[in-house]
Amino acid sequence: MAKRDYYEVLGVDKSASADDIKRAYRRLAIKYHPDKNPGDKEAENKFKECAEAYEVLSDTDKRRQYDQFGHEGLRGTGMHDYSKMRWQDIGSIFEDMFGSDDFFSSVFGGRGRRSGTREGPSRGYDLETTVELTLQEIAKGTEKAIQFTRQDICSECSGSGSAKGSKPGRCPTCNGSGQVARGGGFFQMVSTCRQCSGTGQIITDPCKKCKGTGRIPKRRTVNIKVPAGVHEGQGIRIAGEGEPGRTGGPPGDLYCYVRVKPHEFFERSGNDLSVVVPISFTQAALGTTIDVPTLDGTRKLKIPAGTQYGRTLRIEGQGLPDIRTHRTGDLFVQIFVETPTKLNSEQQELLRRFAETENKSVSPKSTGFFEKLKNHFGENR
Ligand SMILES: [Zn+2]
Ligand SMILES: [Zn+2]
Repeated sequence: MAKRDYYEVLGVDKSASADDIKRAYRRLAIKYHPDKNPGDKEAENKFKECAEAYEVLSDTDKRRQYDQFGHEGLRGTGMHDYSKMRWQDIGSIFEDMFGSDDFFSSVFGGRGRRSGTREGPSRGYDLETTVELTLQEIAKGTEKAIQFTRQDICSECSGSGSAKGSKPGRCPTCNGSGQVARGGGFFQMVSTCRQCSGTGQIITDPCKKCKGTGRIPKRRTVNIKVPAGVHEGQGIRIAGEGEPGRTGGPPGDLYCYVRVKPHEFFERSGNDLSVVVPISFTQAALGTTIDVPTLDGTRKLKIPAGTQYGRTLRIEGQGLPDIRTHRTGDLFVQIFVETPTKLNSEQQELLRRFAETENKSVSPKSTGFFEKLKNHFGENR
């Protein structure tokens, strides 16, 4: 099967920085994590595909090879073949390649650790959710109550998964060691026992409330502070609001991604806003003062006499604040000159009389254009 472009797999630009790549990989790995998509082969394949893309794009040399020669360029660089691998082993490979840090334990949730070691304390999964904001809220910054579901520790069994008064028993597969040996002779491989995930114990009498998982899904509400000037897709991190850690590990974080509600009037471009305002052709010709919408009401705007269709006028400081510098963008008002329709006979008569008076000094552009046109065909004939 043809391999997909690694940048496409991670959804990043060719110019993406190491941090962008790390962030993109982390989001996707969490999304497609087989623990979160049990039995979903497609998610597992995506999870592996992302790991492969990350291995290449996070490594300066491999990335250069790939940029220059594509997938061909990676032959002989010691790439892992993730498609044939148990997904649980990717965590150990990455720990070997990049060292063990919070990033990988957040991605792999402490599972799929180095084979043959018992599962120690590990950080809980990060969670993500979205917050929808209006431009008004973005202009001022706001506080929002965010609701989400997370797997909390079961209160009945304190997360052990065993019913009250019962204790887990020794795992029969590994006889309590947490490891199993496969193969024989020289090539004996020791790996983590799958039945007990390396803990050496299994639950014999599962807790009724959580059915032995030790976790209960719980709806939770947290208040988040949204700084002024946030952008679409930006993530706000709420430390410690992810899922609880395993065997005493710290909890993960909650990432709240911003979605901007479309506005009836305004388009956003960076920190600037733009609005299209219709005026009549007499207003455009004679000049006037109009009310222009702003984020917190309306503003008077002087339209000079002789304003053309499509002209853009700027109102300074009526855009959105920059999230870092707090400097405020501008509001661009684009003028739409409306040609009148449904004229009554009196109005038609007035315009006919006006038309008779039209000449070079009233409409220099169109007079000039039609003169040029006449000369053009005159010369060519
Ligand atoms: Zn329980
Ligand atoms: Zn076992």
